[in-house]
Amino acid sequence: MRLLVTGAAGFIGSHFVRERVRDHPEDTVVALDALTYAGTEATLADVRDRITFVHADIADAEGVLREHDVDVVVNFAAESHNSLAVLDPGRFFRTNVLGTHALLEAARQVGVARFHHISTCEVYGDLALDAERAFTEESPYRPRTPYNASKAGADHAVRAYHETFGLPVTITNCANNYGSHQFPEKVLPLFTTHALDGRPLPVYASKDNRREWIHVRDHVRAIDAVLDRGRIGETYHVGTGVEASVERIADLVLDELGLPSSLKHEVPDRPGHDRRYLLDSTRIRRELGWEPLVGFEEGVCDTVRWYAEHRDWWEPLRDRSPVVEGAWARS
Ligand code: NAD
Repeated sequence: MRLLVTGAAGFIGSHFVRERVRDHPEDTVVALDALTYAGTEATLADVRDRITFVHADIADAEGVLREHDVDVVVNFAAESHNSLAVLDPGRFFRTNVLGTHALLEAARQVGVARFHHISTCEVYGDLALDAERAFTEESPYRPRTPYNASKAGADHAVRAYHETFGLPVTITNCANNYGSHQFPEKVLPLFTTHALDGRPLPVYASKDNRREWIHVRDHVRAIDAVLDRGRIGETYHVGTGVEASVERIADLVLDELGLPSSLKHEVPDRPGHDRRYLLDSTRIRRELGWEPLVGFEEGVCDTVRWYAEHRDWWEPLRDRSPVVEGAWARS
């Protein structure tokens, strides 16, 4: 395959690139990223000699597709931080909706064999904490935040390009990822880097709100399965069924580092904070034989240790985040 991987200098995109070049040495990988505050080439340092890196916006990718004769696009590029979307929603709609549209149009003009789009469980809105059901691929979209709404808009555009123009698309909607190389604004690295510096961990007031957690390597394996065997036009949920509250994440981090629970510090919820997401991932398990392999506690503890051992990666990034948790309460 000749792949264009967008958002490749970010968390999940970089893991996808790393595993792809290891498991498919015959592939050509063009890694494209606009290098926003959330992306850094340092994340791709270990595979730099195996890929072509292009510093560009997804809205300007047609020339790249032509120059490298790309046949498969995997679109990770996005503004991805819900908290930033409260303070600056416009940039989310620009990249996630209009940027995805521009990339779809470029893919249509060039005539790629596959456009795979990375989406999220968050497009469905939230579940009550005691709800017995999970979201299926047929659940209605009910996004509640600018990030969720912009990802929902992108999904609709991807499906429209399939139905209207016959673009061969697939979509995966995934649960909350964790693992190495995640920008230190997201909850697990945020807690871990704060704890490593002896700073308080900012835990939202509604600390029982839960997320479904998946190790990033299991997510990447699911994308590979969909690229290899997924049905064109289909959507696949990628989830583990393993749920944990934000407070539980804080407790695991503090336990692993041998630090006291007094480091937990309550901060106001961000507006529109979703209570819970849970995906029914029966389709990908039954049709494609995928299942998660990384145990939750083992994966979280490995990740905490990775941050403890890689200050050189996260220290230069820490102060690049444009948002401080709880900033909305002061505005
Ligand atoms: P990330 O913020 O770590 O990475 C996003 C990357 O996209 C960054 O490197 C950034 O520089 C790049 N980017 C942003 N705007 C761009 C643009 N206009 N053109 C080109 N590149 C641009 O995010 P992530 O956690 O790796 O998420 C990747 C994808 O997976 C996103 O689409 C996100 O919505 C989706 N997703 C994430 C999770 C999760 O838990 N992190 C869960 C489900 C789905």
